[in-house]
Amino acid sequence: MGYNREIYESAKSFLDGVRAKNIKAYGKKKKWFRDNYPDGAEIEREIAKTAVLVARMLVSGNSDISKITKIKEKNRELIKKLGIFLKEVGLPEDYLRPCYDCRVCLDTGYVDGVMCRCLKRILQKEAYNSLNKLSPLSLSSFDSFDLKYYDPIVKADPKGSKTTTQREKMSNIYSFCKNYAKKFNVGSTNILMMGETGLGKTHLSLAIANEVIRNGFGVIYVSVPSIVCKLEKERYRYVGGKTEDILLECDLLILDDLGTEYRTQFSNSAIYNIINSRLLCSKSTIISTNYTIQSIESDYSKRLVSRLWGEYRLLKFCGTDVRTQKAVERVRMTSN
Ligand SMILES: [Zn+2]
Repeated sequence: MGYNREIYESAKSFLDGVRAKNIKAYGKKKKWFRDNYPDGAEIEREIAKTAVLVARMLVSGNSDISKITKIKEKNRELIKKLGIFLKEVGLPEDYLRPCYDCRVCLDTGYVDGVMCRCLKRILQKEAYNSLNKLSPLSLSSFDSFDLKYYDPIVKADPKGSKTTTQREKMSNIYSFCKNYAKKFNVGSTNILMMGETGLGKTHLSLAIANEVIRNGFGVIYVSVPSIVCKLEKERYRYVGGKTEDILLECDLLILDDLGTEYRTQFSNSAIYNIINSRLLCSKSTIISTNYTIQSIESDYSKRLVSRLWGEYRLLKFCGTDVRTQKAVERVRMTSN
């Protein structure tokens, strides 16, 4: 199964852009060289002439081998001469060679009809971008996470012993997430973020995503309902796509809002497959959910529950809906 057409098209236009950029850079370099070093430019023109001459003779079926060999010899000498010239004026030996991002396929994306590694990388990146378009990936950072919205007041524990405030608990979660993002590596622990709406789960998981992407890892951030819907379309409506592969390949997968998907046999098995397959190849996953432990246990299969409890680090978010608090703040500010 290949990527869908949209992905191929955006990869192609990316590659077209790379070629255009390099042709422009090459033209600029050549012009600069010709303007500043007319003697060198003359050698360069001679090289081009000899190359064209040999090509013409070969195409026209000229079999004067000794003449062809002579011109080829002259061409080699001129190339050597140009090399010495460049060295003398302090330019690198390959200064007048065309510019390419990929010297294997010369930015064409293919070598002898086989897709080059560079194009495969571009396709994967485009696919990541297309999936990540579904989320507000650039909106959250660790710096914009404010602990002032979490209650600092010590409440009497019914058992009378431990007295950790909501702010302390959330501060620990914040530090854990920040440290996790900083030290993220392939095989980092899996995280299950649990708690009611508006307590910062999405904010912190997006902040992790941003930092991990900045550190060069492939991250996919998707909401569970949207990904189930996409997988279902690809499976049953034959629209083409590699979403399942991408979800399994990326270094970090963040599944937002488990429990809000429309529950079917397909959705249950798709979610289980993603979670289980990533565990089997030691790929890290972060899941966030508004569900409680009890509702997960009652609504999902035993095998999924056992993967979550056994292989995920549980972070229990607490507090009062931050979004509501911010809204109240805004109302107060405008009414003052
Ligand atoms: Zn290439």
